[in-house]
Amino acid sequence: MTTARPRILTGDRPTGKMHLGHYVGTLKNRVRLQDEYECFFFVADLHTLTTRLERDKLGETTQNIRDVVLDNLSVGIDPQRSHYILQSLVPQISELTVIFSNLVTVPRLQRVPNLKDVMRDLEIEQPSMGLLSYPVLQAADILHVRANLVPVGKDQESHIEVTREIARRFNNLYADEDNPVLPEPEALIGDVPTLVGLDGQAKASKSLGNAIFLADDPKTVEEKVRGMYTDPNRIRADIPGRVEGNPVFIYHDAFNDDVAEVNDLKERYQHGKVGDVEVKRKLAAAINRFLEPIRTRRAELATQPRLVEDVLAAGSERARTEAAETLYRIRHAMGLTWGIT
Ligand code: ATP
Ligand code: MG
Repeated sequence: MTTARPRILTGDRPTGKMHLGHYVGTLKNRVRLQDEYECFFFVADLHTLTTRLERDKLGETTQNIRDVVLDNLSVGIDPQRSHYILQSLVPQISELTVIFSNLVTVPRLQRVPNLKDVMRDLEIEQPSMGLLSYPVLQAADILHVRANLVPVGKDQESHIEVTREIARRFNNLYADEDNPVLPEPEALIGDVPTLVGLDGQAKASKSLGNAIFLADDPKTVEEKVRGMYTDPNRIRADIPGRVEGNPVFIYHDAFNDDVAEVNDLKERYQHGKVGDVEVKRKLAAAINRFLEPIRTRRAELATQPRLVEDVLAAGSERARTEAAETLYRIRHAMGLTWGIT
């Protein structure tokens, strides 16, 4: 008899194309763990409402859903092995959110560091109920398939902590100590916990427009790299530069497979023996080497009609079955059995 594998659930908001930050923060782990875990990947379309309500922005969601799924498939997510879910096709997630919102306090959610970051970045003065309870909806996403592991970037760690607290509170209230109803899922942070933006801002983000997208063509990559923020004190090539914390070298470390070249550039940079032009030209070449197979695969996948629709329909159907099972267990544990058998 085969034992059931532990489960992964993680996903993305359909707010734009996926970028290099997503790759090192979470995509790489997703691809790597596809066999070890039963994987549920996720497009969080309802989460999009928390920061963009304008009709013309929401109108972009359909295209964004397609892009996000194609980006995931192009780096190696395999829909034959993994399930791919569209959040709004699983209505039970909203019901779970209502139940879970009673298991966490408002001040607790106000203390989530990511809330403050998002409000600052997007200049939001007061959070809506939806933005405040972003982590509660996320807890419902994760727990509707009873996932054990959540590969995410560092910015999401504080959210997963809320999921853990909700699961713990639920189990304390309604389950026997040795037989929990809900798992307490762990966050798994990527190699580069938060990739800096091209502009030197703390986080490359699709909402901030400071990222290299997986689907960018070689010319665009070259232009973006040329404009990258670097050591601002280095106004001439013969001035020794700072490597540490310098976005150009952070990207070299993350994406240049030629380690000898990176070490040589660092050495010369620190001694004022290389110009920014060469450092950036080599970085653009390295990123283009890295992106080439991803672009090719993406172009192939994009020619398959209805691929994304079919993948999401199948994954979401499976998710609804899991969600129904989870709700059944939850309502039984709570004694809310009216109308269910
Ligand atoms: P938005 O600005 O619209 O929220 P985003 O770029 O933050 O977009 P999400 O869809 O919110 O993207 O996040 C998808 C996943 O990628 C999450 O696991 C998140 O932690 C991770 N991630 C996002 N940006 C980065 C980054 N710069 N470095 C590492 N991981 C990241
Ligand atoms: Mg985000």
